[in-house]
Amino acid sequence: MTSLLEPAAASSRANAPEPRPSRASLNAGRAITALLVIGPPLALAIALPLLWGRALNLTDAVLAAIFYLVSGFGVTIGYHRLFTHRSFRPVRWLKIALASIGSLALEGGVVGWVAAHRRHHAFSDQPGDPHSPHGYGAGPGAQLRGFAHAHVGWLFRGDVTSAERYAPDLLADADVRIVNRLFPIFAVASLAAPFFLGWTISGALSGALTAFLWAGLARMMLLHHVTWSVNSICHMFGKQPATQRDRSTNFAPLGVLSFGEAWHNFHHAYPRSARHGALRGQIDPSAAVIRLFERVGWVSDVRWPTAAQLASCNSA
Ligand SMILES: [Zn+2]
Ligand SMILES: [Zn+2]
Repeated sequence: MTSLLEPAAASSRANAPEPRPSRASLNAGRAITALLVIGPPLALAIALPLLWGRALNLTDAVLAAIFYLVSGFGVTIGYHRLFTHRSFRPVRWLKIALASIGSLALEGGVVGWVAAHRRHHAFSDQPGDPHSPHGYGAGPGAQLRGFAHAHVGWLFRGDVTSAERYAPDLLADADVRIVNRLFPIFAVASLAAPFFLGWTISGALSGALTAFLWAGLARMMLLHHVTWSVNSICHMFGKQPATQRDRSTNFAPLGVLSFGEAWHNFHHAYPRSARHGALRGQIDPSAAVIRLFERVGWVSDVRWPTAAQLASCNSA
């Protein structure tokens, strides 16, 4: 993985066979994924009528916002811009911290996430891309099928990406390997922490349950769908000011909620750039935090967009 997914990285790997998991592990993975995808909306549907009028209090809202910020930046700054694309070089404790808080998003361990995302960039809307919405046909039904596949369907395919092939640098990093192995503990802690914080702050079991509902389940569900929207919406709707090599788009309405990840067309044009929302008026909270890290000396070698990269974009 020498080029860290500059577009030229697409190579003859397209048709190389990916590793095949056993049927038992495939089914276990599907069951856990189904629980994480269907569980939160089901829990909210059951709980909301019971809690109507007293379902959300200030404690729950603050906890939900904190957990969304921490786990969200863990994915965007950690999993994506650092571990997938090496947009900057962090000090060791920050590297470990970013891998850890990214795990709190319950989007899988860092190694598997990075491998799949690097494969996405290597094949970008071509055969071999694990979650392109394209290639299903042109009619509305085909478009809808493509959207569903890119958004969440691909998670159930059992299409495992080889970490040996796509993330050998992470497998060679002992710190990352340990955090990756601890993923199930981070996943449980990510849902247990709001429960116990809600209990401690409110002093009542009902406070624990509503904090679990909002800062645990609802927060996880929102971040999941925002992340998945970058794979689905940001390859279907929006503008292409930076490249038309693939179908990636900038989709402004998701800019802030995705912490800058929805400026996805510029990102596909220049994957190593630490700033995705590089053009005029584009807010990129992840880049702002990386800039802050750079100022206090926690990260170095930050790959900010170059004048030539910016000049290559049309401003429309
Ligand atoms: Zn993409
Ligand atoms: Zn990327």
